[in-house]
Amino acid sequence: MTSETKKFIEPKDIIGIRLECTHCKAALLLPFSGFAGLLDLERLRICPHCQRTWTQLPDGATAETAILQCVEKVRSLNTLLENGRYGFGLTLEIKDDEPEKQS
Ligand SMILES: [Zn+2]
Repeated sequence: MTSETKKFIEPKDIIGIRLECTHCKAALLLPFSGFAGLLDLERLRICPHCQRTWTQLPDGATAETAILQCVEKVRSLNTLLENGRYGFGLTLEIKDDEPEKQS
């Protein structure tokens, strides 16, 4: 017999974003409640610890727009779903670290 555990989270359980430096492993946690207005993306361009580039590449490519859109979409989804006005609940499936298998 094989069993599999599925893990789901509700959008309201997403309370912030976390950026971890791939070089020095310093992490920055930005709670949604901490920036009611706009996220200051310019501060995310370099690691606050080792000063390596984070959200912008030397060729000008940037992850800033995608990060901002992700935050805005989670917030708008939470607003849309609050109060149970719609006839469905929405959860996001997250990857299980190591699926348990029983035989
Ligand atoms: Zn760093």
